[in-house]
Amino acid sequence: MIFNFFKFRKSDTTGGDKSQVVAIPKNDHNIKSCDISSSARKTIETLQAKGYTAVVVGGAVRDLLLGEVPKDFDIATDATPEEIKQLFKRSRIIGRRFRLVHVYWGRDVLEISTFRAAIAGDQVAKFVKDDKGRILRDNVFGTQEEDALRRDFSVNALFYDPIKEIVEDFSGGYRDLLQKRLKIIGVPKVRFREDPVRLLRAIRFSAKLGLEIEKNTLSSMRHLKTLLLNVPSSRLFEEMLKIFFCGKAVSAVLLLQAEGLLQMLLPEAQKALKDDLGKKFLLLSLSKTDQRVEDGRSNSPSFVLAAILWSEVFVRWRQGLASGKRPFLALVQAIDKFYLSRNSRGLDIPKRIEMDIRKIWLMQARFLKTRGRSPHALLRALRFRAGYDFMLLRCEAGQEDQDTGFWWTEFLRSSYDDRLEMTGMVKKKQYNLQPRKQTVGR
Ligand code: ATP
Ligand code: MG
Repeated sequence: MIFNFFKFRKSDTTGGDKSQVVAIPKNDHNIKSCDISSSARKTIETLQAKGYTAVVVGGAVRDLLLGEVPKDFDIATDATPEEIKQLFKRSRIIGRRFRLVHVYWGRDVLEISTFRAAIAGDQVAKFVKDDKGRILRDNVFGTQEEDALRRDFSVNALFYDPIKEIVEDFSGGYRDLLQKRLKIIGVPKVRFREDPVRLLRAIRFSAKLGLEIEKNTLSSMRHLKTLLLNVPSSRLFEEMLKIFFCGKAVSAVLLLQAEGLLQMLLPEAQKALKDDLGKKFLLLSLSKTDQRVEDGRSNSPSFVLAAILWSEVFVRWRQGLASGKRPFLALVQAIDKFYLSRNSRGLDIPKRIEMDIRKIWLMQARFLKTRGRSPHALLRALRFRAGYDFMLLRCEAGQEDQDTGFWWTEFLRSSYDDRLEMTGMVKKKQYNLQPRKQTVGR
């Protein structure tokens, strides 16, 4: 990629200050206007035809510059939500903290946001914040430049105009992308205080895109990591799932560990990484998750979390077994102890997912029974498939005898009759329910 861009002055839409933007012309960047989805293009054309500024923004521009296929196309404009809504018949204003417009084109939904004001230095007082400096409401419209500067990382603040075919950069993001650098915009400690979730976003983008976190950004992250403990648990949970499913979960979790965030949020995973068997299992399950993301297959939060939290339960389970307890009872007790010690520790897991995790774990003892009715009943258990995959993973990581995995795989492939035979069950139908010949008149 040739690094040759020019600066021009641009009137901002509010008629206020002139702002400086670096524009990278068509021949100097690798985005082609056909890389933009037709619905994003139509939306931008409609807005621009009415005299508004409208551009693709954020992750899509970043991913295209990196030669990746974007997940979606977000659009930013100087039109207000009401003005946007009037232009598109099939659209809806959504959101309370940020008011956005969803525009529908067939099955495609596009998110259009109005340029919002930047938050920096003396302006910080304008925003509603909690006592730790976290911004609670920031729906203040602004210029395109302000919109760029209120974003988190410079590489996430680039704009692309598919009509003029230029990339617009107010944040130094283009240079940072070329140099594979992840840099927070503005004063790092202020920006992380405003929204501590940016700490986790930094880890995710760094791992996912192979960007090195810039020195000052990283040093602030290290100082401010405990701010994450003030973030509402649902948002924290959501952000952690994004990390697990970003396609580079192995690197991301190792980075979380290196930066001391894993110990804070998932101390059980931190502990697992210190134990050979635990580490093998955890990294294997994360690399399988990455592989599934690459193959475009779905991943379930309960499965991944069951794997991440498992090692501590496994250690306790083994202790129970060693003291002569029966497998199922020992596992129930190990799980109960785990939850008891987990109280108020680290990441809060929603009840619904916690219940699924428990099911996956409890099945591990039931897989040890391969005689009688038990295997047949297990096949009908809720979340059986997840429990089975989990057991295979444990076999692969050396936690369970490989034969158990082979037996179950064979059992699943077998016919009903063969299953009965494999479990040593007498096929009653065959022997008891055969109609007897009547011997009349003998
Ligand atoms: P992904 O490919 O993971 O969706 P993305 O960059 O599109 O990456 P989103 O979470 O979809 O990330 O956010 C869209 C854009 O909104 C970002 O690129 C960034 O500019 C801005 N943004 C999102 N979250 C924040 C935040 N917490 N603070 C500041 N800006 C943010
Ligand atoms: Mg996105």
